[in-house]
Amino acid sequence: MHTIAAISTPEAPGGIAMIRISGDQAISVAEHIFVSYNHLTLSEMKGYTCAYGKIVDKEERIDDVVLTVFRAPHSYTGEDTVEITCHGGLYISRQILRLLYQFGAVPAEPGEFTKRAFLNEKMSLTQAEAVMDLIAADGEAALRQANLAMDGMLGKQMNTYAERLIDFMSALSYWMDDAEECPPELDRNTLSTKLNEIKMQLNRLALEYQNGRRIREGIKTVLLGRPNAGKSSVMNWLCGTERSIVTDIAGTTRDIVTEQVKIGEFTLLLSDTAGLRDTDHQIESIGIQQAYRELEASEFALYVIDANIGLSDEDLEFLSKCPQHTLILWNKTDLTETLPPQLPYPVVLISAIKHPPLSVLLEPMRNIFGEAVTNRPQIMNERQRCLIESAILSVQEALELVDVGEELDILYTSLESAVKSLREIEGIDVNENVIQGVFSKFCVGK
Ligand code: GDP
Repeated sequence: MHTIAAISTPEAPGGIAMIRISGDQAISVAEHIFVSYNHLTLSEMKGYTCAYGKIVDKEERIDDVVLTVFRAPHSYTGEDTVEITCHGGLYISRQILRLLYQFGAVPAEPGEFTKRAFLNEKMSLTQAEAVMDLIAADGEAALRQANLAMDGMLGKQMNTYAERLIDFMSALSYWMDDAEECPPELDRNTLSTKLNEIKMQLNRLALEYQNGRRIREGIKTVLLGRPNAGKSSVMNWLCGTERSIVTDIAGTTRDIVTEQVKIGEFTLLLSDTAGLRDTDHQIESIGIQQAYRELEASEFALYVIDANIGLSDEDLEFLSKCPQHTLILWNKTDLTETLPPQLPYPVVLISAIKHPPLSVLLEPMRNIFGEAVTNRPQIMNERQRCLIESAILSVQEALELVDVGEELDILYTSLESAVKSLREIEGIDVNENVIQGVFSKFCVGK
């Protein structure tokens, strides 16, 4: 394998930058351009040790650096690795990289360091994927999930399910080969109960994926309500800035603006839409059409109602088009004590212009979306979800065969394909295309 090199820190000026080299020649390539100030010879340095010195191009100093040596297999990639920490100027780090290429290193592909870690069995595929989730984590819940996967918890869980299925397969082969009597674990009722349990647990994982995805990517949210209900004021309250035009002339919010709003562990990707109402005014009606498109693309709606005016037929009509996850904001409660009538979604009483703490939305959101911060490992991406779904299908197939009273030996194939899907989540027996697909999403230098 080639020795690869890349800048692992962001391509922007900063305090320090780090260039990573990995492969059989990592140390000898670095040796060509490094002069230690305390007379250390790189090839004689032990793993996990540092040297202070300078990077030179021929005789000329490029920068003073700290260089860390990792010896195979005790490195991130499992190969000999050198990390050069230099001053964080882009020109400096690029010059160092250029010199490394000159002495035999080749540019690393996106995620190639982590790919090598996977190929050298330093981590499983879910752990490798968790590296990206760790980098992308933007809150407590996302960080906790990424760390659970990094610790291999997701992998362990997949393994437990696979092993339970393999136990049935072993019993089946034993019975098919030479047993006279059917082993007790293959009793149809027992088998049906056990397989159902596994199916339910896999189903829960698939469902919890939706929660995990919301944590990582944010919840696409639309802010709706009739003109003047207070949508722009709600937007300003949530965003903490005067960013939508607030007027008392109905229909002044015409463009859709998108903002990220953090409410506890949830991140709302919030679009404010033009006031929803039937209108002949052309610009406004374009806005309203856009609002409907936003509505279709959203999984959560905040629907604002002016408490002073109360619920109208129009509101009911718009509410009927709202997604399953909708929260009604009964607004302007500073003007009236009128309580909301029976409504089809949960309601929170607010006065947007008084800017109450955002935590008033947290409990209702937890009720709607469930606990987002959980200590149970969750599946993290579409690749894993598809494999869980196909494992569920195979277990379901096996269950149907048990229930219709088929000869038990034909269960074997269904169980085998469920196990194969579960194993593939961890990266066992996956083909090069799958591996390529996973690592192509990484950044260069990781
Ligand atoms: P939009 O058309 O739905 O975006 O409504 P706006 O946010 O522009 O608000 C319409 C009017 O209602 C403005 O004059 C706001 O100041 C006022 N308004 C919004 N929320 C409240 C509130 O909680 N209390 C009071 N008293 N007025 C509000």
